[in-house]
Amino acid sequence: MKTGRVLITGGAGFLGSHLCDHYISQDWDVVCVDNESSGRPENVAHLRDNDAFTYWRHDITESLSLEGDLNLILHMASLASPPFYKRLPIETLMVGSLGTRNALELAADKDARLVFASTSEVYGDPKVNPQTEDYWGHVNPIGPRSMYDESKRFGEALLVAYRNARDIDCGMVRIFNTYGPRMRADDGRVITAFITQILRGEPITIHGDGSQTRSFCYVDDLVRGIVAFAASGHDGPVNLGNPDEELAIIDLAKRLCALFGVEFTPAPPQPRQDENDPMVRCPDISLAREVLGWEPRFTFDEGMRRTRAYLESSLNV
Ligand code: UDP
Repeated sequence: MKTGRVLITGGAGFLGSHLCDHYISQDWDVVCVDNESSGRPENVAHLRDNDAFTYWRHDITESLSLEGDLNLILHMASLASPPFYKRLPIETLMVGSLGTRNALELAADKDARLVFASTSEVYGDPKVNPQTEDYWGHVNPIGPRSMYDESKRFGEALLVAYRNARDIDCGMVRIFNTYGPRMRADDGRVITAFITQILRGEPITIHGDGSQTRSFCYVDDLVRGIVAFAASGHDGPVNLGNPDEELAIIDLAKRLCALFGVEFTPAPPQPRQDENDPMVRCPDISLAREVLGWEPRFTFDEGMRRTRAYLESSLNV
C-alpha cells in the first residue's frame, strides 16, 4: 500500500524534480507532468524505471484528467527565470491562469489538496523589507516582469476563489530565490550565471550597480518547506526562503569568487536587467517558523559548493 498519490506539474523542472525524488523516497506514487519548455526529462531520468513513477509529457494549459485516486497536486509548472519568461510572455501568463484553473479543476474532481508555487515576485519591487505575507506588494501590471508577476498573482486569486466558491482544499507558498543542483546552466539566473562564469574563467556580469539585494535558499531546504506546507493543511500564503544573508549582487559575486578561490573580475558595465528589477528582496519567515516549524539549515558556503559541483559536472569544464 502506497502512502498516497501526488501529481507534480513542472515535475521535470528544478524544484519539481527534487519534489519527485522526495515523494518517491517516502513511498508515494508520483505522476510527473511537464511540457519540457524549461524542465528537462533528464532531471527525472533516474526515476523512470520505478513502478511508482509515471512521466507524462503534457502542457497543463490543455485540460488535465487522470484515472484513479489522487491525494495531492503540487502545481509547480512555471517559467521561473526572467530571461525565459520574458521570451515566452504569453505562455507564462497562460500557465499561471489556464494551467492553475486546470490543476484546480482536477483537485476538485479528485478531492485532492492543491499547493500552488507562488513567488516573492508578487511583492514586485517592494517598499517593505523584509517582506511579510500581509504586504500587498508594488507591482507594475504592464511592466517588463508583469507576465510573471501577474500570472502568479492571478493564480493566488484563483485559489482563493476556488476555496471560497467550491470549498477546495488548497494553499499557496511564496518561494524566494532558490538555487542548487538541476538548475539549468543556461537559465540566466544570477547563481548559475556567476558560478558558470567562475568555472569558465570569464568576467562576472553585474547588472546595474549591483546594489540590488537578494537572499538565497538552498533547494533541499526549500523542498522540506513545501513538503511541510503540503502536509499542514494550511491555506497560506506562507513565505519560504532564507533570510540569513541578504546580499547585494556585487557582494554575492565577491563572496562566490572568494569561496572558489578566484580573483573578482567584473565584466564591463551592464545595464540593469530591467527598470522594475526589485532593488531589495528578503523573506520574513516568522509565519513558516510558527505554522510549519520550518527554517533553512544549509549554510551559504555548503549550498554553493554543492551547486558548483553540479554545474561543473554538467558543463564538463
Ligand atoms: N543578475 C546579474 N547578473 C547576471 C544575472 C542576474 O547581476 O548575470 C542580477 C539580476 O539583474 C537581478 C539579480 O541578479 O537583479 C537576481 O536575478 P535572477 O535572474 O537570479 O532572479 P530574480 O530575483 O530577478 O528573479
